[in-house]
Order: sequence, then structure tokens, then C-alpha cells
Amino acid sequence: MTFLITAGPTREPIDPVRYISNRSSGKMAYAIAEAALDARHEVILISGPVNLAPPRNSKFISVSTSDEMYDAAHQYADSSDICVLCAAVADYKPAEVSPLKIKKSADQVSLALVPTRDILQSLGQRDDRKFLLVGFAAETDHLEENATKKLREKHCDVVVANDARIGMENDKNELLILFRDGEKKNISRAPKTFLARELVKIFQNSQQKSLTKKMS
Ligand code: C5P
Repeated sequence: MTFLITAGPTREPIDPVRYISNRSSGKMAYAIAEAALDARHEVILISGPVNLAPPRNSKFISVSTSDEMYDAAHQYADSSDICVLCAAVADYKPAEVSPLKIKKSADQVSLALVPTRDILQSLGQRDDRKFLLVGFAAETDHLEENATKKLREKHCDVVVANDARIGMENDKNELLILFRDGEKKNISRAPKTFLARELVKIFQNSQQKSLTKKMS
């Protein structure tokens, strides 16, 4: 099977030297990419800037902004069987990018922000999609409730939820996995490399199940 995986943060430029971003190490996504490759799948890894080496044997697409990630995800989604949207995409970007460095002044400044395009939601809205769509939800409160909402609103097949305070920039995580048919699975705290191997098996089974359902 072919896995498309989005990873890392995005950077939304303010001017030539400044940007808005968020805390994301890319560790979970890169671990999923490695686990999928180990299980002999093909991997297309679309990654924002992180301090990790691209997995050998993956098709690696390096991006910086949410718009670049959006375009790359849409370009490769149809040639993939499983799309795992693991990236911590910025929710907002500056309404305008200054072509010159904004000078420091003693005054208060405000920055107008506009929402970025939601990559996961846009892929979920496509009725013709054949790929399994997996979203991630990092929450600080009401984990199950928020993740269930995301599953429905973004039309995902699977949502992998975790407490942002445990998982962010950490080598370990614990997961709650929600499926479209209402099934739930918990994986207790473990290294991201272990979780990644479990997730690859779960995604592969879900994709096979949905294919069998479509054919019958
Ligand atoms: O709504 P929230 O940003 O918390 O949703 C997280 C999920 O949505 C993740 O799977 C993330 O990769 C995806 N996402 C996206 N494009 C965005 C924002 C989030 O694909 N612009």
C-alpha cells in the first residue's frame, strides 16, 4: 500500500525574517513513516521544517507553508491508499506578508491573521476519495469529545487522539483511537516508535475492511 503522511509544523511568513509556527517535532509522523517502510509499504512524506533526517526509501517532499503542504497533499492523495495527516498545520497566517523586514518601534503593533486552509477537512469533503483518511487530534481537555467532533466534522475514517501535554515534543505518547463506525481503542503510554508500528497495522486493517465493504 502507499501511505501519504504529513509531518511537522508549517511556517507562515510575516516578513522575510519572521514567521508564525507551532511546537511540533515531527517525531510521531516520522516514526509512522519508518514503521510503514519497515512493513514494506510505499511512503510519501510531506514534511514541514523539523530536525529529523528524511527516512531512506521514502518519497520526501519538503514544504514550509500550509499552502505548500495543502498543494502537495492534494497532488499525491489520489495515488495513496492511506492518508495520515499528522502535521501540526498553523491555523492562521498573516493576512499580508511584508516584502521588507518590519522595523521595530516603541509602539504596540497588531497583526491581522486569516485562517489557513484545512488540509484534512478538504480531503474529507471529497466524495470520490478511495483512500483511508486518518486525522490526529492533540487536545488539552475533553479529549474524546473533541476528537469525536473532529472525526465527524472533518469526515475522517479514523482519528488518533492524544493529550497535547503528553505527546508534544516527547519521545513517548498514549493514544485513543476512534473509528467512524464508533469503535474505540486505547494504547497506553509507550515510545512513539512502538505506537507507530501499532498504528500502521491498525490503518492497514481499516483500509482492507473498507475495501471489502465497498466491493460487497
Ligand atoms: O482542528 P485541528 O487543527 O486540531 O485538527 C488536527 C488535524 O487536522 C490533524 O490531523 C492536522 O494534521 C489536520 N489539519 C490539517 N490542516 C489544517 C489544520 C489541521 O490538515 N489547516
